[in-house]
Amino acid sequence: MNTNVKKFDNGIYQIDVHMEGKPQRMSCYYIDTTDPILIEVGPSNSFPYLISALESIGIQDVKRTAITHLHLDHVGGIGHLNEKYKKNFVYVHELGIKHLPNPERLWKAVSDVYTEDWLKKNWGEIKPIPLENIKTLNDGADINLDKNRNLKALYSPGHAKHHYTFYDEFSGTVFMGDTLGLIYPHGSFVQPNLPPPDFDQEILFETLNKIEKLNLNQLAIAHFGIHKNPYELIRNAKESINNWIEFINKLPNRSDKEASEELVNWIKTNYKSLGIDEDTINNYIGNGNFEMQINGVRRFLNNKKL
Ligand SMILES: [Zn+2]
Repeated sequence: MNTNVKKFDNGIYQIDVHMEGKPQRMSCYYIDTTDPILIEVGPSNSFPYLISALESIGIQDVKRTAITHLHLDHVGGIGHLNEKYKKNFVYVHELGIKHLPNPERLWKAVSDVYTEDWLKKNWGEIKPIPLENIKTLNDGADINLDKNRNLKALYSPGHAKHHYTFYDEFSGTVFMGDTLGLIYPHGSFVQPNLPPPDFDQEILFETLNKIEKLNLNQLAIAHFGIHKNPYELIRNAKESINNWIEFINKLPNRSDKEASEELVNWIKTNYKSLGIDEDTINNYIGNGNFEMQINGVRRFLNNKKL
């Protein structure tokens, strides 16, 4: 087992795929059961990390993959995976049918936000997968893992309209994607992730409320890792999201760039109050794309006024 893999109880493996070449940014998960499944592939550039991690735990073939949502840090490497494991089929929101066999539009939409140069350098290009390798998800559908164990797909919009989370009742784990937000190793509080065009506070809270009612032992989030205090984290996430909205709402006359600078200063102050040093904070804040966060929140607030 290589150093990027961490084994948890009940056959759950957390895999660090070194997103943007850095550790502890993006985790994929592998549930090793009678019918095993990979959850998330990470971006294309992370593919070598994913494969060497899987091989280090003896996985020579991947037959099934579940994707939380169609953002390229989660699904970008899927074409690489299907090139290597031709029989792999992918569980994803029905919009995957439209985009994964022809990812050009998805690529264009993301390039408009991040720029094409940034995308190629940091996440890498997405390759298509055949239509017949895609299985679309329905809310409440069970993916069988073992004789007495299922992974339940829960439709979970709010961060993205094409978002599913996956509930493994047997281990009390929800694989959250980006529904909760981000928790990096340098701080315990949840950093919201509220991108345009889909972020909607009310819808996201409905999703979090639904997850909060489940029997939970841990949350497995994409950015980053498995956390053993699920209910506390869900409460923290709601509080952080409301704080961000309130903060951004008070900056109506600033451009997205100016408002993002103020947001970053405020977040830094919050991290510093936890006793975290400046270099560590800057290391993680660097890839936050805060202008996009401002844009996501403003779009939600404007839509609400209509
Ligand atoms: Zn993400």
